[in-house]
Amino acid sequence: MTQRETRIGKFRVVALRDANFALDGGAMFGVVPRALWQQLTEVNEDHTIPLAATPYLLDDGVNRIVIEPGMGRRWNEKQTKMFHIDHSGGHDLLESLRGAGLEPEDVTHCLMTHCHWDHIGATCGEDGKPVFPNAQHWAVESEVKALSAQGHMRGASYRIEDLQPVIDAGLLNSFSGEVEVLPGIKMTELGGHSEGIALIRIESEGEKGAFWADIVPTRNHVHLPFIMAYDMNAEKSFAVRSEWIKKSAEEGWLNMLYHDTISPLGRFVFDGKKYGYDALVD
Ligand SMILES: [Zn+2]
Repeated sequence: MTQRETRIGKFRVVALRDANFALDGGAMFGVVPRALWQQLTEVNEDHTIPLAATPYLLDDGVNRIVIEPGMGRRWNEKQTKMFHIDHSGGHDLLESLRGAGLEPEDVTHCLMTHCHWDHIGATCGEDGKPVFPNAQHWAVESEVKALSAQGHMRGASYRIEDLQPVIDAGLLNSFSGEVEVLPGIKMTELGGHSEGIALIRIESEGEKGAFWADIVPTRNHVHLPFIMAYDMNAEKSFAVRSEWIKKSAEEGWLNMLYHDTISPLGRFVFDGKKYGYDALVD
């Protein structure tokens, strides 16, 4: 069984569950030929591939941090069908948070790498209110701007209503460049995939980890050229990935992969030619 809970120093790390869904396989693998990627993953009849939305909980007993809340439930029938959105089998942010022993009111921080709908949809409930009423929310400023930009190249990926209630409640903090949200937890704006997607790094008691969001969406995207067609600037993505995947592999970081359906926690390994993924197993 692949592992869903571990530690990074003083932090308990739990891979929560929000939803299973699916996106076009070709778009997920960019220039990689289907003949190659179809050997790596299940493929649905409509050419989509199964993906997860996996929020993570970091808990040091005082700070309860949710990284990337998930897709949430504000989806109509057409969208649910098109993206195969499925919350069955315990794939629900609040249910899995309660399974980890916490109520939404206990969450102190909610960190969002970028503002695409499959990453921040769950910040607000079906009642249009913030799901974590006591949490300081953190997002990259350029991403918040993209939510309401007219004629944006990736306008279909942004919905202002995902974040407006959090903004109205005075719960949103935004930053450019880098911010240390708490001692040992840094968000670094990198871009490439989107306007300003951030890498979230955790360092505690000599141990290191990172949440990769769409910089490395699944275990099948660790190989450096495997860049999604969704990425706005593939060349920048390649540079970002080359620098940070190398660092993670060299230093043995614990990696959290948001869209992986099978193994949300693991380490990057280099075999002398390319990078791969070593999943944590029980
Ligand atoms: Zn994205």
